[in-house]
Amino acid sequence: MLQLYMPLHFLGFVYREIKNALADMEKMFRLLDENREIQDAAGAPTLAVGNAAVSFQHVSFGYDPERQILFDVSFDIPAGHTVAVVGASGAGKSTLSRLLFRFYDVTAGGIFINGQDLRHVTQQSLRAAIGIVPQDTVLFNDSIFYNIAYGRPDATRDEVIAAARSAHIHDFIGALPQGYDTVVGERGLKLSGGEKQRVAIARAILKDPAILIFDEATSALDSHSERAIQDELRAIARDRTTLIIAHRLSTVVEAEQILVMDQGRVIERGSHRELLAAQGRYAQMWALQQQEQV
Ligand code: ADP
Ligand code: MG
Repeated sequence: MLQLYMPLHFLGFVYREIKNALADMEKMFRLLDENREIQDAAGAPTLAVGNAAVSFQHVSFGYDPERQILFDVSFDIPAGHTVAVVGASGAGKSTLSRLLFRFYDVTAGGIFINGQDLRHVTQQSLRAAIGIVPQDTVLFNDSIFYNIAYGRPDATRDEVIAAARSAHIHDFIGALPQGYDTVVGERGLKLSGGEKQRVAIARAILKDPAILIFDEATSALDSHSERAIQDELRAIARDRTTLIIAHRLSTVVEAEQILVMDQGRVIERGSHRELLAAQGRYAQMWALQQQEQV
């Protein structure tokens, strides 16, 4: 009898717990019901928290007062769109990305995000909104895990691994004896240029920012690896405001707007098709790169 009593007592306890839980659920449904009359518009998109339009307006700049690098550069990246920048080395392409990240202030003109001058917002909020895959990635003397999670320090291990997979670096990390705990950087395992770029790409994917800058993000990869990772980059750039600085023109063919820079000036702009038709500098560069590939 006593043996039977114990489980019954226990069941009573469970029953009360379930009843309470159901009562809570009822309350929740009633709350949800109250606002039935407010409904989503058909096809309403999910809220894009940091939907950001970028605008460079008559930007001039020099690292030193004696030597001007950018001359009256203007362009707009509508929120969620992509602008690509091409041009010879030294033309001032990376300088654009450094100014957008506000490593330096412009000397004339202004840079705006959603109409807000960069100089009038906190640097912390600005940098939180931008993910950058730079030309030369500098790694911290810390674990690979730390170096990827740096993009978003509160990320879980699974999220870090997912980002590493998207950046095609997970298998490489998995093959290391200490995996994600491997210390990299000057005093640790030295990664190749391409591996560092993949870490930076993983970092940017994890950061999930409103604005992305790819500064020759795949220049250290061989063209086979570049092609493999291109789809991933396209996927993370989709619906995000993106500035792509490109080395190989084949990577910007699909950009809605391509800027051609020369010695600190925008000398041509348009889509790939428009620029080819214009038979100017871009068309020359394209012809040259097509030859190199054969
Ligand atoms: P790109 O990315 O198109 O190759 P950059 O924007 O890196 O060109 O550089 C444009 C010009 O600015 C180059 O002449 C370069 O030497 C100069 N420059 C770049 N960084 C600095 C710096 N930190 N101090 C002084 N000059 C710089
Ligand atoms: Mg550069």
